[in-house]
Amino acid sequence: MSGPRRDRVLIIEDDALNRELLQAVLEGAGFETHCADDAKTGLQLARRLHPDVILMDVQLPETDGLEATRMLRADAATVAIPVVAVTAHVKKEDEARCLEAGCVLHVSKPVDTRELPALVRGVVARARSAVADRQTS
Ligand code: MN
Repeated sequence: MSGPRRDRVLIIEDDALNRELLQAVLEGAGFETHCADDAKTGLQLARRLHPDVILMDVQLPETDGLEATRMLRADAATVAIPVVAVTAHVKKEDEARCLEAGCVLHVSKPVDTRELPALVRGVVARARSAVADRQTS
């Protein structure tokens, strides 16, 4: 028996412990999760899986999370997927850089695991209503 499709989250994070923590929290909250440990793999999975939201670590090897977000924004196949930046930096200018790169939101590490599921649900809901608005206007 298959229920309704669960909201799908793609986690792009190079730190295994962080990745497993985010995955466990979101799976426990009912999300379907997929993981990548670098930007290249993450971009491939984003095109293939069309996740409802991407959690993007900013500090990644080679291509960093902000550059990866710009690439997602530049690709018609992935432009509508909301990206949440996850970073250890807490300065205002870092947050601004995330938003400039096309992220919808910035979350600081360590991520508040109690708030994360509601935060992700909110991002997915806002992206859906933005699509609905475009279709009705
Ligand atoms: Mn990292």
